[in-house]
Amino acid sequence: MFITLDEIFEEFEDLDPRDQSQYLLEIGYELPRFEDNQKRDEDLVHGCQSQVWLTAAPKDGAADPVLQISADSDAEIVRGLITILLASYEGLTASQVAAYPITDVFDRLHLRQYISPQRHNGLQGMVDRIRNSAIALSGTHSDVPKGEQAGVSVTVKESRAGAETDAPFDAESIRAEFPVLNQLIDGQRPIFLDSGASAQKPKAVIDKEREVQEGYFANAYRGRHAFGARIDEELEASRKRIAAFINAPSERQIVFTPGTTATLNMVAAGWGDRFTKPGDEILITEMEHHANFVPWQQLAKRAGATLRFIPLTNDGRLDMSRLDEVLSKKTRLVAVCGMSNVLGTVNPIAELTRAAHDVGAVIVVDGAQSVPHMTSDVQADDVDFLIFSGHKLYGPTGVGVLYGREDRLEEMEPVLFGGHMIDRVFKDHSTWAPPPAKFEAGTLPIVQAIALGTAVEWSQNVGIDRIHAHEQSLLQLAWDQLTAIPNMQIYGPGLEHRGGILSFRMHDVHPEDLAALLDRKAIMTRHGHHCAMPLHDLLGVSATTRTSFAAYNTAEDVSALVSAIMSARQILRRN
Ligand code: PLP
Repeated sequence: MFITLDEIFEEFEDLDPRDQSQYLLEIGYELPRFEDNQKRDEDLVHGCQSQVWLTAAPKDGAADPVLQISADSDAEIVRGLITILLASYEGLTASQVAAYPITDVFDRLHLRQYISPQRHNGLQGMVDRIRNSAIALSGTHSDVPKGEQAGVSVTVKESRAGAETDAPFDAESIRAEFPVLNQLIDGQRPIFLDSGASAQKPKAVIDKEREVQEGYFANAYRGRHAFGARIDEELEASRKRIAAFINAPSERQIVFTPGTTATLNMVAAGWGDRFTKPGDEILITEMEHHANFVPWQQLAKRAGATLRFIPLTNDGRLDMSRLDEVLSKKTRLVAVCGMSNVLGTVNPIAELTRAAHDVGAVIVVDGAQSVPHMTSDVQADDVDFLIFSGHKLYGPTGVGVLYGREDRLEEMEPVLFGGHMIDRVFKDHSTWAPPPAKFEAGTLPIVQAIALGTAVEWSQNVGIDRIHAHEQSLLQLAWDQLTAIPNMQIYGPGLEHRGGILSFRMHDVHPEDLAALLDRKAIMTRHGHHCAMPLHDLLGVSATTRTSFAAYNTAEDVSALVSAIMSARQILRRN
């Protein structure tokens, strides 16, 4: 490298901000340029305003190899930023690069003050690419023949669901990206096992919210000024990213809403009230969260329809062999969760959709628990509506998503009226803007909706399939150890039919007592009926303890949980 990080720090300290930009350009000029044949499409970094090509390859055959990073851009100022990155990572091994606190370098150089937020996104895109490569390469190349290593650029492939790599899932370094987990509570490491209620936020999401507030906040779809234009651009980029994440045909089918509960109510009123007639049937299940239960119960009351339930098997799955008993030409709508927030049961959505469509019913999927933890594909599943919340997907509170098939959104009535959602307002009537604006009356949760795009991007960068596999491995670990505890009852099906949620109860131990004892060890679980009273009635208990896993949980968390449960049993004298 032609310059060291210390030299860059030294130069920067003596310069005022305008001269610092000039200096970035100057060091950019010095950076060696790629030949044309090195500028490969697969090495392009997404999220950059200008074009950036970046490769990271192992320099040697060590298990944890020194990383050889090369990059180039068509913008000189970006080449300056690349120079800072290369100087920072110079000589470090893959695991050192993965753990390197690069934002400290940016903070020390006050980069945020003189590069645009868009450029900052691009810089973050480069950092993410390098970090993912470093994670993929640390300790994984020792068995690759040496000759094959030269010039191998990173084996991280981008897909809709995110990064695909054979590298082990490094939950500790993922955990390190969550500031709230990087603290001690009464001297203990916090173990957060309540992500089913709300997930923690990675720094990237928190930073994005701050970036919007500090950098260019304005109302959306209104101002033609610089801030307004930027906000519109960011919101649309988020909408597009979310559409790609669930494989929606178009971002026009992604409506920003306040969350799952509000959206289910919207669909029940906007679609349900229009199409449900006396004598119709609405089919749900007893495993639903109240948010996907009560709106349909109330719709049935308003419309004179009947609420029916798909029977459950003894182990808490939908009994598909009995679907014919409850699904008929009378069924107007089927509403079901992608994954139960209590039992963890993953429901066969594609199969249910086919059956619903065969009788002319529409299907509404409550994806609050499924979307954050497994790949969702609205086209493959052919669902009519898919709904989820930002805050369970590592994103902010106050924002959620309604996906609707194009024809369903066309025929659904808006339930909130006001600014932005109209086409024309006359004294005696009004006409509506096309979706998604039709369902986005008033001011959106702008900052949150933009940061939700960042949360989705974060999940894609880690890889939603990898997150799923990691959570399943924690589930297996917890299952093996919890089932060995005497008088332990775990609710719901075996591992092949469930996602990363485990609800349980020990004979004679009240979940609230257990939760209090676990909390003394900074282990955060949830107890109660989890907004699923009909399900708890069916289980014959008033409350359970629920642990729910996320990308940042580790095997150590599971061991701590199990040993804390064992000692709680002793304290409660149930051993
Ligand atoms: N549906 C399910 C399955 C849930 O788990 C939850 C929240 O726990 C909801 C709906 C409600 O989501 P929100 O509180 O974000 O509206």
